[in-house]
Amino acid sequence: MTPMPVNPAGSPLKGIRGQLLTFKADPFLYNEKECYDYYTDALVVIRDGHIIEVGDYKDVAPKYPDLKDVETYTDSIIMPGFIDCHVHYVQSSMIGSFGDTLLNWLDRYAFPTEAKFRDKAFADEVAHEFMKQLLEQGTTTANVFSTTFATSVDALFEESERYDTRMITGKVLQDRNLPDSLKDESAEESILESERLLKKWHHRGRQLYAIIPRFAPTSTPRQLELAGELYQRYIDQGVYMHTHLDEMQSEIDWVTQLFPDVDNYTDVYKKYGLVDKRSVMAHCCIVREEEWQTLHECQCGVAHCPSSNLFLGDGEFRYWEAKEQSRPVRVGMGTDVGGGTNFSIPRQLGEAYKVAMLQMRSLDAVKSFYLATRGGAEALHLENTIGSIAPGYEADIAVLDLKPSEFAAWRMKYTGNIFERLFVLMTLGLNNMNKATYVAGRKVYDRSRDNKWMYAAEIDASADVKPAKEQKSR
Ligand SMILES: [Zn+2]
Repeated sequence: MTPMPVNPAGSPLKGIRGQLLTFKADPFLYNEKECYDYYTDALVVIRDGHIIEVGDYKDVAPKYPDLKDVETYTDSIIMPGFIDCHVHYVQSSMIGSFGDTLLNWLDRYAFPTEAKFRDKAFADEVAHEFMKQLLEQGTTTANVFSTTFATSVDALFEESERYDTRMITGKVLQDRNLPDSLKDESAEESILESERLLKKWHHRGRQLYAIIPRFAPTSTPRQLELAGELYQRYIDQGVYMHTHLDEMQSEIDWVTQLFPDVDNYTDVYKKYGLVDKRSVMAHCCIVREEEWQTLHECQCGVAHCPSSNLFLGDGEFRYWEAKEQSRPVRVGMGTDVGGGTNFSIPRQLGEAYKVAMLQMRSLDAVKSFYLATRGGAEALHLENTIGSIAPGYEADIAVLDLKPSEFAAWRMKYTGNIFERLFVLMTLGLNNMNKATYVAGRKVYDRSRDNKWMYAAEIDASADVKPAKEQKSR
């Protein structure tokens, strides 16, 4: 497989015009109004996959008299591409499987499905469909579980590379308490394989590697120890650690039995060097105060996955605990497909609102869309690279349709401002609410184009045939 060329020489200016919302700080911690920039008519100027300027159209446009390639969106809101902080691409083909408890659901559906990823052709098929789903929903970065086999890692990174998306994944480490068809043969071998894949993929284009013990019960202490050593060797090169934590009570009880001399679940990972600044923990529904303290001190990211938590009956994430002013924790949203029931981050926000309301806490649209974009980037320590529309950032952008259905268009007549409209969108949870997705400045998804999805090389080739020649001569 040949890597696709990224940012070909002489790539011209490109503009996106329309209503725009982007975040610059955490509205859980600061005055909401100071945390975002909102424009009724903005112009985003892009070159070589990066944003070079954003502001009111009337101020920015005159500075770029050569900028002819401008796409204008009406009845829409331009936002940073969404960030999915926790998703299992290998479970895409079993989304919506009837289940009861998490542990039974793993045995009955998740493990047998993941065992099929030994076959590269199957892995390729699923990776292809998964990436299409992400881009259709406006998600431009995801922190992804593959499974045991190198084939599952290669398939996702290869497909991500074709779109030039920034994806994070790695081999899943699991050497006990699961079927032989999925089990690592030895802790030592599993770590060697992880390091081989890490060297192959980390920082190849936009791809980033994560060391992924599935969760404490499916790794021997030896595997966790070696995983921690590997993580500590590569953490300063931007390698991640991604796992599950404190999802539900029966899981926590199992961890307590398996690791009786450790005080709490977080400390199991901490003991083995797995809790650090690039550690991302999925769920965190039932968390003790001392665990929040650790997650804060170690600057870990937490992925809130409400549709999965509701589907599997896990527990209720408490954002007010995570965002306690004295020790706030970095939080982003996760779909957790196949436990999650769809690939849409805005739809997760509607579920997050309901989960909070079960505890009589509400979650407004400002905080919600922050979690969907910049919050996710902060959870991944990428807040200076993605998750905002600002100069220097990578041009990963979604364009939400504010009139995605006839009924929604009618309902919007009775809203007063953009945050009321966004709240309606996330609550209605429509599946078709994203018009277009830009990845590194290329429109890789367009709802109204014949080829809805296009790879980076296809877009570059079509640009070479038509306007690029004129642009090069300018
Ligand atoms: Zn998960």
